[in-house]
Amino acid sequence: MSAPKIVVVGGGVIGISCAYYLAKDGAEVVVLERERVGAGASEGNAGTVSPGHPPLNKPGRVAAALRRMLDPTSPLYIHPSWNPGLWRWLMGFARHCTLEHVESCMRIMAPLGKDTFALFDELVREERIECEYRADGYYDVCATTTGLEESRQEADILTRHGYSPELVDGDELRRREPAMGPGPIGGVYYPEAATLDPGLFLTRLARAARRRGVDIRERAGARSVVVQGGRVTGVRLEAGGVEGCDAVVLATGPYSLSMARRVGVRLPVQAGKGYHRDIAIGPNGAPPLRIACVLSESAVFCTPLYTFVRFAGTMEFSGVNRVMRPPRLRQLTQAARQTFPGLGSARASSEWCGLRPMSVDGLPIVGPLGDVGGLTVATGHGMLGLTLAPVTGEMIARHVLGSGDPRIGALSPARFT
Ligand SMILES: Cc1cc2nc3c(=O)[nH]c(=O)nc-3n(C[C@H](O)[C@H](O)[C@H](O)COP(=O)(O)OP(=O)(O)OC[C@H]3O[C@@H](n4cnc5c(N)ncnc54)[C@H](O)[C@@H]3O)c2cc1C
Repeated sequence: MSAPKIVVVGGGVIGISCAYYLAKDGAEVVVLERERVGAGASEGNAGTVSPGHPPLNKPGRVAAALRRMLDPTSPLYIHPSWNPGLWRWLMGFARHCTLEHVESCMRIMAPLGKDTFALFDELVREERIECEYRADGYYDVCATTTGLEESRQEADILTRHGYSPELVDGDELRRREPAMGPGPIGGVYYPEAATLDPGLFLTRLARAARRRGVDIRERAGARSVVVQGGRVTGVRLEAGGVEGCDAVVLATGPYSLSMARRVGVRLPVQAGKGYHRDIAIGPNGAPPLRIACVLSESAVFCTPLYTFVRFAGTMEFSGVNRVMRPPRLRQLTQAARQTFPGLGSARASSEWCGLRPMSVDGLPIVGPLGDVGGLTVATGHGMLGLTLAPVTGEMIARHVLGSGDPRIGALSPARFT
């Protein structure tokens, strides 16, 4: 019997991971990417593999964001505009901001996090992916008592779900990271976490996928899926023509909505824009950080990556666009300077923004799409797309190739119908 042919639409970290695991399990795989591999959110993210964390939907989140709605320096910013889809999504998001929801998500995310962390180790080792992978954890660093209390609560949740976060006081933080100034009063060390260069990781994962026979086509946008007799038979290309196949995986991040809508499914996903600024390590630049950390109050990640430090974060709801707002970029380094007073004013070597696919309930959306046979979706990974990429690829491969994966049950888009 010949291998089934699968088309994966989208060349971000989710699409390439799906393609890799599908090919590893024996499928013939074509990836269609509208721009180039990594052109979405996947190459410029903060580079932290942070398993087991609760979703963004926490009690009080939306109320706090609405209070600071007109403040463009707020970490969570909603651009004031008339966008009924966004407001509908925000209302749905708010409905999921309960402690019960956090607990039920943790029952799913905690084991998924352990699985993905193990897969990262295996993937990097087996495929010799050189991407500055360091599995030595990261720190959540707090400058206020409120921030510290929230971080402690989050650490408690992770502890109850089998992780081993460690509470650290301000002096101990400064001993472990001498570049820190007097600001931080304490924090949490998450040992079960890793950092890597996400751009390098993705290019090398794509290379590993190609070695396994995956045909990755760039500047090859997909227009829609072709359905005959209730089953997918191909993908219609933006350039014209159809790529025939036995099954399709939609992994187009925040762009998945329009293709899903064409098969009659409305996915509750919004684009959550985030930014990065890379500053070279050196005089008047970034201090040579020993550890990766997230600054709790501003939600800015500071990830040391060989010759530079990446400052990344902020969550902006302003639609599907890549317009960069300078105050939000500046905010990244302004916040970091309060923790690292040695951070100079050197120009950034890279400034970037990307769109996270944010699901309404904070869980990824992975599984069969609508009632079309052979059509599967993998999106909605929000702030954890890099972290969950290997486990998503593994689940998709098992589901699409027929052996099945029970983990998909709770993540299926059917939960919204
Ligand atoms: C500032 C920032 C920091 C982050 N930090 C982290 C982190 O530290 N750890 C973590 O786990 N996650 C992090 N994330 C989240 C993570 O980057 C995303 O969840 C992840 O990249 C989503 O991957 P994706 O493949 O679903 O989407 P994308 O990377 O957006 O890829 C989708 C691809 O589909 C393509 N496409 C769209 N439409 C079509 C079409 N019709 N035909 C063909 N191709 C199409 C696009 O061009 C794009 O390349 C961060 C995100 C941001 C913005």
